[in-house]
Amino acid sequence: MKRFKILFFTPHIDDIEFGVPFTFLESLRLGNEVVEVLMTNCEFGTHRIEFKGARLKRIRTRELENANNVYAKYTKNHVRVLKVGYIDGYLPMNKLALNKVVDIIRTEKPDLIFAPDPWYALDYHPDHINTGRLPYFALKKINKNELPTRVFYYYSFKPNFKLKCRWKDIQIIVEALSQHRSQVTPLSAKLIGVFRKLLFLRRFFSTGHFTENFREQIFNDGYPEFPKKHNFLDNIKYLFFTRMTVPGYEKFHNITPEELGLRN
Ligand SMILES: [Zn+2]
Repeated sequence: MKRFKILFFTPHIDDIEFGVPFTFLESLRLGNEVVEVLMTNCEFGTHRIEFKGARLKRIRTRELENANNVYAKYTKNHVRVLKVGYIDGYLPMNKLALNKVVDIIRTEKPDLIFAPDPWYALDYHPDHINTGRLPYFALKKINKNELPTRVFYYYSFKPNFKLKCRWKDIQIIVEALSQHRSQVTPLSAKLIGVFRKLLFLRRFFSTGHFTENFREQIFNDGYPEFPKKHNFLDNIKYLFFTRMTVPGYEKFHNITPEELGLRN
């Protein structure tokens, strides 16, 4: 069987576990070449001010290695992590960042790309939005023959594509998620596992399968199609998810990068 090269764009360490864990695990298990493109350094994700900054970056980098070791243990395949290195919460949507992403796609030549949904997002953390927008605009810039075969968005409230997944994998994912000790307590990791099972069961009873859902990017003659205008229901969802997610991000940013001695 042909092996694929698959790029997973992530804003933060742990977004694999929250956003696209089953597909990530299955991609490794099938022996594909898997690359995680991590856009930020994750220096802000804690309430404990004495941990913010370089110290949290070190802790979370170790947690990422531990989580990836869990996947390696079960799949005998290793993910390669490409660190783009922007400050947590400050991933810009500008020419420099865009060129970096264009270069990554040109160098890596992936068959498949996964990124957070930039337009119908479940999470409106600005890093999440830009981690979706940068690949979208990069795809507009590159030539037709450099395009990946398919592009999928995770964290989407408007999915149009379902990948089947295995019920038993929930345990592996909870084990990987539990490695992010600065982010989730062992109890909350278990609760997230239970929550996933409930979500799975709901989907199972409506569709007959356990699935992870995505929105696939449509291409028109080599150009990624811009999404249609939000309809009424989309607007309600947009309002709901911005209200749910933006305050969660803002509360961590009670200190500036300069005050922490960080520089992009
Ligand atoms: Zn995140």
